[in-house]
Amino acid sequence: MALVNEHYLKLSNNYLFADIAKKVNAFKVSHPKTRVISLGIGDVTQPLCPAVIDAMHKAVDEMASKASFRGYGPERGYDFLREAIIKNDFAPRGIHLDPSEVFVNDGAKSDTGNISDIVRWDNSVGMTDPIYPVYIDSNVMWGRAGILENGKWSAINYMPCTEANNFVPEIPDHRVDVVYLCYPNNPTGTTLTKDQLRKWVNYALKNDTLLLYDAAYEAYITEDDVPHSIYEIKGARKCAIEFHSYSKTAGFTGVRCGYTIIPKDVTAATLQGERVELNHIWDRRQSTKFNGTSYISQRAAEAIYTPEGKAQVRETIDYYMGNAKIMREGLEALGFKVYGGVNAPYLWVKTPNGEESWKFFEQMLYGAAVVCTPGVGFGPSGEGYFRLTAFGDRNDIKEAIQRIKDWMQSK
Ligand SMILES: *Cc1c(COP(=O)(O)O)cnc(C)c1O
Repeated sequence: MALVNEHYLKLSNNYLFADIAKKVNAFKVSHPKTRVISLGIGDVTQPLCPAVIDAMHKAVDEMASKASFRGYGPERGYDFLREAIIKNDFAPRGIHLDPSEVFVNDGAKSDTGNISDIVRWDNSVGMTDPIYPVYIDSNVMWGRAGILENGKWSAINYMPCTEANNFVPEIPDHRVDVVYLCYPNNPTGTTLTKDQLRKWVNYALKNDTLLLYDAAYEAYITEDDVPHSIYEIKGARKCAIEFHSYSKTAGFTGVRCGYTIIPKDVTAATLQGERVELNHIWDRRQSTKFNGTSYISQRAAEAIYTPEGKAQVRETIDYYMGNAKIMREGLEALGFKVYGGVNAPYLWVKTPNGEESWKFFEQMLYGAAVVCTPGVGFGPSGEGYFRLTAFGDRNDIKEAIQRIKDWMQSK
């Protein structure tokens, strides 16, 4: 008899976005003539830039001839991409990495979800709340999260980020073995300054904590004192793993490519107290369970580091951030309390009159035919908030704000 991994049974049956889709479909059935505008799911809408498309075409053509055909690639990624990453994303910030510290992957979801394979099941885990659901769910699968009681996992150290602390998580007053941080943050769109992040690095060094730093939205940072990489902070090479993704940077949600940095100095202990390099352990895991990212995707990623690629990617990011500005200003004019949208393509908005997230979601769906993501879907501290994404089309964004205005004024 095969026994199931029962930890999976503790997970809620539906992924947040499946619940939303179900409610939106119910609305569409009863309102077949209404066009719904979705500012809910965090997917990009603009096409790949020409530099990327050219590189992909070229890579496809290479696959068509025997002389340039590529089969299995190196599990850690091709050198051309790892070198471009180091040269463009790190060296200009004074961060020195060796190519062996870069692991190219098929997107940051895989690695942020899989990374917990390489630490023991009984580590204590902390995360900011609300947060990208992958971190918690992947720990539930390992049995690290305990049980779900009133929307909270009993064994997770939640670090609330709310209006009350201006979305800056408090440093724990006890030791936590593994801490997940995501900045710029999904869902709140907020950031940590260099000084605020330094406190986390110092905490990690002092407590022998492993920091898992998700920088998927790094390209959206506009303010100067917000770090693009945790390795801008001294000492982070000893305690932090960092995740990057081309999904939001360059519209690769369908292409699939990202990378993870594991410096050689990051170690974890055995029960006997021996220190082990996590770079080596992750390499061992990946070479067993992962066969590399497609050559075509890696050539596509390389192209965003060319001068044309950089300019074209920037243009799309500016377009989304232009959307964010319109949304921010529009909602603030209606009296909403809005966070984020300055260094991230997300707006985190307080529901009026302390309405519950899901209730407000339904009200706005039925009142304005605009879809948001209920804040509580990202964790208990998200209750009373909703998330809007700026990844939409400009005209849709404008119409959505107008609809919300008409709806608020008709109430
Ligand atoms: C979108 C996102 C990712 C990664 O997405 P991939 O498409 O798998 O690269 C990772 N972390 C956060 C916080 C995200 O929002």
